[in-house]
Amino acid sequence: MTYPVLIIGGGLAGLTTGIELSRAGIRVLLIERKNYPHHKVCGEYISNEVRPYLIKLGLDPAIMGAAEINSFRFTSPKGHILDSPLQMGGFGISRYQFDDHLYQLAQASGVEFLLNTTVSDVHWIEDHFIVQTATGDEFKVEVVIGAYGKRTRLDRELKRDFMQQTSPYMGVKYHIRYEFPKDTIALHNFKNGYCGISAIEEDKYCMCYLTERSNVKKYGSIPEMERHVLAQNPHIYNILREAEFLYESPEVINEVSFAPKKAVVNHVLMTGDAAGLITPLCGNGMAMAIHGGWLAAQEIIDYFSGHRNRRQLEKGYTRHWKKQFSNRLWVGRNVQRMFGNETLSEFALHFFGLLPPLLRLVIRSTHGKPFHV
Ligand SMILES: Cc1cc2nc3c(=O)[nH]c(=O)nc-3n(C[C@H](O)[C@H](O)[C@H](O)COP(=O)(O)OP(=O)(O)OC[C@H]3O[C@@H](n4cnc5c(N)ncnc54)[C@H](O)[C@@H]3O)c2cc1C
Repeated sequence: MTYPVLIIGGGLAGLTTGIELSRAGIRVLLIERKNYPHHKVCGEYISNEVRPYLIKLGLDPAIMGAAEINSFRFTSPKGHILDSPLQMGGFGISRYQFDDHLYQLAQASGVEFLLNTTVSDVHWIEDHFIVQTATGDEFKVEVVIGAYGKRTRLDRELKRDFMQQTSPYMGVKYHIRYEFPKDTIALHNFKNGYCGISAIEEDKYCMCYLTERSNVKKYGSIPEMERHVLAQNPHIYNILREAEFLYESPEVINEVSFAPKKAVVNHVLMTGDAAGLITPLCGNGMAMAIHGGWLAAQEIIDYFSGHRNRRQLEKGYTRHWKKQFSNRLWVGRNVQRMFGNETLSEFALHFFGLLPPLLRLVIRSTHGKPFHV
């Protein structure tokens, strides 16, 4: 079968690109390896930088039942607290709900879907792609978008640089019920990691942490690591003791890499985490995925309207992507160095406590401006 555009991966980046292209009259096939709805490891706090865009698209966070979040609590491994308003703020909604709302919007916009299907290979042949799935389907395509997230086997097939190194990071997520202010996102530090907690829909909370696999290896299992390492922070200790955990077991992902990536690889336009993952402590990877999806779609619309050739499409997309996101990714990587190190995060808490404008500046530099179209 032949398509002008094929999108690999139906997370926030892929769905946004699909909606924009379909609404511009371009036929799109989106291949997603899972079905909707599904859970994902994510802190589920979305920066308000994309709120105006989402409302315009037809997804109002208030109507979806999202929690409104406008303050930030930072605690050190010893439990010291620093509170700060969040200038731009954001909202909390589970990926289970949010991705599903976006999927329904994409369907209504005319995006064609192939679900429960994994793309296994993408070959560039002179002026088009051949895309193959694990179930043996084959598509001839003019433009391919890689929106398949942090790391997949496709990255190995495409020989991407960051696949040469293993990453020590893993992510763990629960949904819980707990007494905590609904308007606050807390970031609790512990040895070799940090844990976010914030409200989502239906009086639930998302608790999600990033740590190093060596912590689990040392203690033998996730619950034992939580007991010995995370619970050293008294705030996490209270959550583990008092909260009602709503899953039998947590969602877990391994090999979370923050290494720099390229926005175009073998003519595939990468977007969302496939183009670069910001460290979760910045809390705006989802906003970047949505913004990146929009950006990719605009470049492709220009290409199909005859204003650009393929070389211009690839160069233009790379330039715009870097301009929009490179600095934020760099700041995120460097701020993360302070977290997980007990002495440094204790120092950071006291330092930013004395200089609140500096804390606001750091938060601002990892976020974009509100994104209007
Ligand atoms: C621990 C942790 C906490 C985080 N917390 C936050 C937070 O609080 N706020 C925030 O804004 N960001 C957060 N992020 C970042 C955020 O989750 C990502 O930036 C965002 O999900 C990126 O969206 P995406 O569409 O690029 O990728 P994804 O949402 O990962 O979607 C990729 C999709 O591609 C599909 N796929 C993969 N391979 C294939 C294939 N071969 N064929 C077909 N389909 C495929 C997958 O099934 C998936 O649905 C966090 C990240 C981590 C690791």
